[in-house]
Amino acid sequence: MLNYLRSIVQEVNSATDFAEVLRIIVKRVKKATNTGVCSIYLHDPADDSFVLTATEGLKPECVGRIRLKSSEGLVGLVATKVEPLNIENAHKHPRFVYFPETGEEQFSSFLGAPIIHQRKVRGVLVVQQVEHRRFDEGEESFLVTVSAQLAAVIAHAEATGELTRVTSPDRVKKDNEAFYRGIASAPGINIGTAVVVSSPSDIYAVAHRKTTDTSGELDLFRNALEKTKEDLRAVHRGLADKLNDQERALFDVYVSMLDDHSLGGEVSHLIETGIAADSAWSQVIIEHVRNFESMEDTYLRERASDVLDLGQRVLGYLQQSREVRKHYPENTILIGEELAAPSLADVPVEVIAGMVSVKGSRNSHMAILGRAMGIPTIMGAVDLPWRTLENVQIIVDGNQGHLIVNPSAALLSIYEAQHREEKVLAKNLESLRDQPSVTADNQHIALWVNTGLRMDTLLSLERGAEGVGLYRSEVPFLTRTRFPSEEEQRQIYREQLEMFAPLPVTMRTLDIGGDKALPYFPIEEANPFLGWRGIRISLDHPEIFLTQLRAMMRASEGLNNLRILLPMISNVPELKGAIEFIERVYRELTEEEGHNLAKPDIGAMIEVPAAVYQVRELARRVSFLSVGTNDLTQYLLAVDRNNPQVAELYHAFHPGLLQALQEIINGAKQENCQASVCGEMAGDPLGALLLVGMGYRILSMSASNLLRVKAILRLVSLTDAQKMVQHVLRLPDNRAVLNYLENTLTQPEIVSLYKTTIA
Ligand code: PEP
Ligand code: MG
Repeated sequence: MLNYLRSIVQEVNSATDFAEVLRIIVKRVKKATNTGVCSIYLHDPADDSFVLTATEGLKPECVGRIRLKSSEGLVGLVATKVEPLNIENAHKHPRFVYFPETGEEQFSSFLGAPIIHQRKVRGVLVVQQVEHRRFDEGEESFLVTVSAQLAAVIAHAEATGELTRVTSPDRVKKDNEAFYRGIASAPGINIGTAVVVSSPSDIYAVAHRKTTDTSGELDLFRNALEKTKEDLRAVHRGLADKLNDQERALFDVYVSMLDDHSLGGEVSHLIETGIAADSAWSQVIIEHVRNFESMEDTYLRERASDVLDLGQRVLGYLQQSREVRKHYPENTILIGEELAAPSLADVPVEVIAGMVSVKGSRNSHMAILGRAMGIPTIMGAVDLPWRTLENVQIIVDGNQGHLIVNPSAALLSIYEAQHREEKVLAKNLESLRDQPSVTADNQHIALWVNTGLRMDTLLSLERGAEGVGLYRSEVPFLTRTRFPSEEEQRQIYREQLEMFAPLPVTMRTLDIGGDKALPYFPIEEANPFLGWRGIRISLDHPEIFLTQLRAMMRASEGLNNLRILLPMISNVPELKGAIEFIERVYRELTEEEGHNLAKPDIGAMIEVPAAVYQVRELARRVSFLSVGTNDLTQYLLAVDRNNPQVAELYHAFHPGLLQALQEIINGAKQENCQASVCGEMAGDPLGALLLVGMGYRILSMSASNLLRVKAILRLVSLTDAQKMVQHVLRLPDNRAVLNYLENTLTQPEIVSLYKTTIA
């Protein structure tokens, strides 16, 4: 059965559209279960009914005509009971409904399985049989397995509008406006032109691009083919004496596949129709890989990986020689399958109006960068046909996580009005820049900033930050092709320290690993967030750690505003080890090399659950603690901060997390150790109020959130914030916490501050 299932999946993957997927499923399931009928009924939310959408065995003219409410028929019963229904004599069942036009009367046994995605019934998969027999357990599980696989495909079709095309073709919009959902990750609304960022040498990640310069593209393509052929011949020559005849022949086959009468010709033809060389190459290769993958013969199936390998090689050359730099229009909306910091390297930041990533979630580092730069950002837009969007007009609503592709004039004017309103709110907030950061009852709360990019540093200074609570030192590492040298680092850190001096700057030592991979230091792990990251790498690589510490301390000479923060501390020996390295560098620089330096304060991040329980142990050994709610949330709730599938479960208002945060500040106070928060929760207006109510007096956040947080703190008293904390700590879940806060903070000026932000 497993093999059969695998081959169904393969065939489904090579289908060209959703209707074909459905046809494949009914045909293959009917064959596998050896039954008379297999049908799929899909849920149409327009009238809450289940529509016969594909069948093998019932009369084809009934497709689209048979509709059953969930209170009707056996199909409705499967949907309401959300479990399989297996009956021998369906006609006798009180819920049986007979549709004469289907020709169904001859079928008596019925087995139906619900198709469920994210707890919602999207359809029902049914098999029916002429003779009286009960389907066996194996058949029942097979149907359940196919349904579970089909569910995600249906959800995707719903998001892209394909589902409506098959269930209610008359409701399909005539224009090509399309609406997608993702995870709201940096607030704000912008309208702009999509620029697709492709990952290098990934055949599946090439944008669909058109060209007017067909002869230029053809030259580029021929050149890439020649280089690849030359490579293959060189490998062939080098291995000549180690290969047998058959293996040598394979090289000739590869070379000939690139010829004009084979792949090369197909692609040239596509380029002549106005498709850019890399897009045309990727389309043809993907098609061939699919064909090979769906073959029954194992030998031929395995050839798919050869074609793929050839595809990647040629693509590498194509991308390398595409020297013409991309044009970034004003109001560029950057779109990619997995946007990451290096994707920003060549883009002039001032033109970026929005960022959209298919992968990732609200607390991925790209989202944090989006917030730092004040650029509306949507992550986890899993259904977005991103490859096809180059040059298309798009609205990015970073408040709701909505994306509108090719918006109609009516929708454009609604969003333009909202965009203007936001600008007015931002302007009003600017007047707060020189106002003190105090609660309504005059308690000072220090608002610091998180930095890493030059742009957020400039924004921080404009917003009147009182210090830097988190300088993410890995950011300059991420945008390079090798580790920066001590002197290169010293200059980068010096600039940061100088810009804020005499205000304190908290520099976190390298926090790579997890989702922050350096292109030149790849780490392959099954569970990167539980693996080699942060301080663990620094302690294992003293040569990298010591260089960084030297660069930081040398950069602080004469300024003396450096604080050093250690990421991902999960036990006391790690902290002790790191402190020893810091002390050694300080001694060497001052005693042996004669630098005149103040000893930097040392702090530990509290972002691992074990550190919460050992907060006093840790606090005794450092001058300050900084709470990283982003990681603490993911580790405490066991929810990957990057996974859109579980994004709903990732919430900083989970009472478990709130209790941990209260414990941390209590423990730090008992040890007279300063404690601040530098995770994203500190930059959320409601999150900030709760943290202040718990006792935190320093909050560090993205510069773009600073004025909004200052505004809310100035409108709420410390006493009220404390009362709110007392109440929420007793609530059962994050929804209840949010409802309570929204019902308590009803003043319109306060509501306008938190309604567009995200916790
Ligand atoms: C955190 O985990 O909350 C934090 C501030 O660090 P980062 O987001 O860089 O992991
Ligand atoms: Mg962290």
